[in-house]
Amino acid sequence: MAYKIPLFNLNFDEREAKAAYDTIKSGWISTGPKCAELEDMFAKMLGAKYAVSVTNCTDALHLCCLLCGFGPGDEVICPSLTFAASANCIRYAGATPVFADIVGPEHINLDSADIERKITPKTKGIVVVHMAGYPAKLDEIMAIAKKHNLKVVEDACHGPLSEYKGKKLGTIGDCSAFSFFSNKNISTGEGGMFVTNSEELASKAKLMRSHGMTTMSYQRASGHATAYDIVELGYNFRMDDIRASIAIEQLKKLPEDLNKRMAVRKRYVENLSKIKGVVVPFANCTEFTSNYIMPVVLTQGSKEDRDAIREKIHAAGIQTSVHYPAIHKFSIYKDYGAVLPQTEYVTDHEITLPMYAALTMEQVDFICETINKAING
Ligand SMILES: *Cc1c(COP(=O)(O)O)cnc(C)c1O
Repeated sequence: MAYKIPLFNLNFDEREAKAAYDTIKSGWISTGPKCAELEDMFAKMLGAKYAVSVTNCTDALHLCCLLCGFGPGDEVICPSLTFAASANCIRYAGATPVFADIVGPEHINLDSADIERKITPKTKGIVVVHMAGYPAKLDEIMAIAKKHNLKVVEDACHGPLSEYKGKKLGTIGDCSAFSFFSNKNISTGEGGMFVTNSEELASKAKLMRSHGMTTMSYQRASGHATAYDIVELGYNFRMDDIRASIAIEQLKKLPEDLNKRMAVRKRYVENLSKIKGVVVPFANCTEFTSNYIMPVVLTQGSKEDRDAIREKIHAAGIQTSVHYPAIHKFSIYKDYGAVLPQTEYVTDHEITLPMYAALTMEQVDFICETINKAING
């Protein structure tokens, strides 16, 4: 069934099509000048020193965990209320994820007190997620990291251009990861970015994304290099110039897209604050944020009641989703034995509403009326 109001709407037009066409016609389609241009734009946009383009955010997170030195025998703290890649990346490096709880329905990011409770002599780092593009409690988390000598990886997939006290998300921890998957704020189909202010981590990331090779094909084809050595066990995590050229067009559109999302969000919060039975996470946040998604949390009922409410909303032609099922309940993580009451409450009571720049205020009003009827009859 096609929904009248989908969850997400791709902000693509002739500009992305032309950029891809031009790159194809240029004769160079793999990692090359477009990737370099994108990396430069991305780093400038964030006020970060280095950005390294990669195949997707999962691979960027994998690099983050490797380069932070996480390995066998180490524990790394992460949330369970996130996409599975935020925990899987810790295991790719050979370390063990330790799930910490979120604060609660009003703040669905990591709870600093629970992070501290989960620290052991084996703890080496924290993977922080900024849900929906809303900043985690980074002052507290960076202070904990400093005190216990931990590395901080920011999974900033939801938050390009989101801010925390004057800094962009993804520039505060040791390194960070962004996604250009089709439904993210910046879309290239598949794609991602590794970001850091450390020259050492950036040059290692460049090495590891291409088999640990000391030169790239483009450098050899353009006569800048004639040979290479392999100095690390690397991967093929390279982005290509076709996707990079699409990402460049997406970046140009991003500020306006996010401003429109801010207006949509404001209308949602105004409407939803009058509806009994729903909490809007981060409702009091005054930072500039990307509003990647629009989560709400029901204040009562069971998981089945939540699912029945979603069915009623779908029947009105509005698509919804759930961000996310708790990771610690999945088959591959359930034996870790994590007990996370706030995460469990939110994952069973959350509904994700449509969010994109082209949503009209009338559509937002209609969505909110539909929710009110679905919850309160
Ligand atoms: C989408 C997403 C990822 C994975 O991104 P890919 O580019 O699809 O690999 C990781 N973490 C979070 C929080 C995400 O939303």
